[in-house]
Amino acid sequence: MAGIYIHFPFCKQACDYCNFYFSTKMNNKEDLIFSLKKEIDLRHNELRTDTLESIYFGGGSPSLLSLNEVNGIMSKVKEKFFISNKTEITLELNPDDVSREYIEGLKQIGINRLSLGVQSFLDKDLLMMNRNHSSIESLKALEIVSEIFENYSIDLIYGIPESSLKDFLFNINKALEFKPKHFSCYALTIEPKTVLDYKVKNKKLFMPIDKLVKKQFDEMVSIFEKKNYLHYEISNFAKSDYQSINNSNYWLGKQYLGIGPSAHSFDGNSRRSWNVSNTNLYMKLIKEGKLFLDGENLTTSESFNEYIMLGLRTSSGVSVQKIEKIFGSIYLKHLMKQVESYIDSKLLHLDGDTITITSNGKFLSDKIASDLFKL
Ligand code: SF4
Repeated sequence: MAGIYIHFPFCKQACDYCNFYFSTKMNNKEDLIFSLKKEIDLRHNELRTDTLESIYFGGGSPSLLSLNEVNGIMSKVKEKFFISNKTEITLELNPDDVSREYIEGLKQIGINRLSLGVQSFLDKDLLMMNRNHSSIESLKALEIVSEIFENYSIDLIYGIPESSLKDFLFNINKALEFKPKHFSCYALTIEPKTVLDYKVKNKKLFMPIDKLVKKQFDEMVSIFEKKNYLHYEISNFAKSDYQSINNSNYWLGKQYLGIGPSAHSFDGNSRRSWNVSNTNLYMKLIKEGKLFLDGENLTTSESFNEYIMLGLRTSSGVSVQKIEKIFGSIYLKHLMKQVESYIDSKLLHLDGDTITITSNGKFLSDKIASDLFKL
């Protein structure tokens, strides 16, 4: 089983915190769509299966694609792959792109899951992050989406400068009014060379203290758990049977094909590759029938570290048997030695074959994982 990720690299406006590959100049949209389809032609055989478990339109802002354009790309995917009624087909959506006609059209095309980038219901947060939509637009979008789609996710951000615990709880409770099946909630992080980075470095903005961010995280986890959402990954919560297949396959290390400028692919073993992060060059090369894929073969240590990192982020955890089988006894010995103090301090939990992160450890998962790495 495998997935395909389609990267649409255009946005109306740049969010201050974003370091994804995107451009706000959309004058070559048609050429890009032609190239995306051609890349599917050129690369579909890279997957060792013709059956897709998930298709994901990400970006950038794929909701800037017209219904005809989404349909055209989907037709190309269907020409090359088998899609069943269980295939998860997600499209990321910005609230300001939502209209009833658009959402109904997406459903007719076969999109069966939406991911709505709300981020906050407070206009002061949205302005601070330079999002292109208002809270009113998010509320209107959610009314439409929740009427037409059963399976949709709401994205929220916590750890926003000048946002209190009360502000974030307001956001969670507002989102819960729509009873979505899934939430993705990420802490705002400062990525190099972003406007946010510049503002923080120049003391024009101040990030919240860790204690407040942890409090927002802890309260969020507690509220979602009380509402019966499974905390299946550090930043993701879902009602039973609504975990994202696309996300889960990524964390499980399954193969996926990344289409579009800057898109990453993984062969399910140790080979990771990525397209050039330059839309014009990408389109030129694809037109000539060439690929510009850069890549790397993960060493055993890198694969081990990645497995630990991703495993500890999920509720499935890390399998001790799998470590021994795939990486060998030296790696198992290393891991068991490193986890000891974390188990004693109740930040990690060992139950039979599985090591998972405890509630207390969740906020520190990246730091704990890096302490378990083999260098
Ligand atoms: S809409 Fe998404 S991809 Fe575009 S700038 Fe904002 S966060 Fe980045």
